[in-house]
Amino acid sequence: MSQHRDAQYYMDLENKYGAHNYHPLPVVLQRGERVYLWDVEGKKYFDFLSAYSAVNQGHVHPRIVQAMVEQAQKLTLTSRAFYNDQLGPYEKYITEYFGYDRVLPMNSGVEAGETAVKLARRWGYDVKGIPADEAKVIFVTGNFWGRTLGAISSSTDPSSKASFGPYMPGYLIIPYNDLAALEEAVQDPTVCAFMVEPIQGEAGVIVPDEGYLAKAKALCAQHNVLMIADEIQTGIARTGKRLCSDYDAIKPDIVTLGKALSGGLMPVSAVLTSDEVMLTIHPGEHGSTFGGNPLACAVAREALQVVEDEKLAENAFTLGQILRDELKAINSPIITDIRGKGLLNAIDIDTHEESNMAWEVCLKLRDNGLLAKPTHGNKIRFAPPLVMTEEELDACIDIIAKTLKHFS
Ligand code: PLP
Repeated sequence: MSQHRDAQYYMDLENKYGAHNYHPLPVVLQRGERVYLWDVEGKKYFDFLSAYSAVNQGHVHPRIVQAMVEQAQKLTLTSRAFYNDQLGPYEKYITEYFGYDRVLPMNSGVEAGETAVKLARRWGYDVKGIPADEAKVIFVTGNFWGRTLGAISSSTDPSSKASFGPYMPGYLIIPYNDLAALEEAVQDPTVCAFMVEPIQGEAGVIVPDEGYLAKAKALCAQHNVLMIADEIQTGIARTGKRLCSDYDAIKPDIVTLGKALSGGLMPVSAVLTSDEVMLTIHPGEHGSTFGGNPLACAVAREALQVVEDEKLAENAFTLGQILRDELKAINSPIITDIRGKGLLNAIDIDTHEESNMAWEVCLKLRDNGLLAKPTHGNKIRFAPPLVMTEEELDACIDIIAKTLKHFS
């Protein structure tokens, strides 16, 4: 095949042969390195999305790639029918890293969510003593944890949920950032868990009130309900701490991780919890052919070590502050809100949800050399790789300022 096809050629192929389950920005990427991406025509961009926070360590991080290549040449998959020499060391490493007793390795983020809900239900029956098949899990409005039937059953977004029923029973949905609603919901003795994102990424980087998580954790503890923190988007340094829950100085009973756990090289997810919860599951009751494969273990260990060695949480914290301050200083009349923590940020464009102004802004950002994507109509997420330097961030802010002027 020719190396010199233009972008339209690739977009036409996807359009003709692929499912139409995404609406990508029209740019066809071919190469990435650190905070940069290049399209098939050789144009260079700043990545301001990081594959939805999966590429926190930057594109094709040389150390993670090396770990992957070395392991790929030795052993990639054994299934869990046998032991391998990567899984145990990885399990020790990640549990000590995050301070939990045990880990259950899976692949995609949504599988980690499914695993967490299964663990919570099993704990509900075996430990809390909920009568069979009556366990309930509390979710919040605006949550997003993937696209399986289990995940969309908790969704309040019609585009995720409508016309895919019937839905999973045993779900209670309360408003996000509403402690009174949580306090009422946890009174139900059949509730086993409360699952929540410390910041709602897909909903448009919705940051709850300060102290929300800490108070939610206390309410859960008081009523013997497990708190599941979905840190798949917020974890692994994205928000300026190792976990976003660290801002509230809490230790959730269960944490789900994914995305940047592999630095974006392959799907790797994990569920971290205590002995009490994890040991309710026995052989044959949960698993996955690829979960905990040696390749994933080698990659994830290196990806986490890079976050430490390169002080990515600290960098995300500092650059996030600069980004929000500088966005405010642009003082654009079309921006109505700027919010976020660390390098998980969003702006709202002054328009109704159905207008395509945010899309137009992203097209113009692309033309000016920066890739971002609207979410929920008028919101644009700003989440570059955490390896960005301050000089690079300044260049990005210049592009954003120039782009916004065009719309003022
Ligand atoms: N949880 C959160 C908070 C997410 O943002 C996502 C994906 O965007 C998921 C879970 C699902 O992850 P995956 O797409 O890898 O299944």
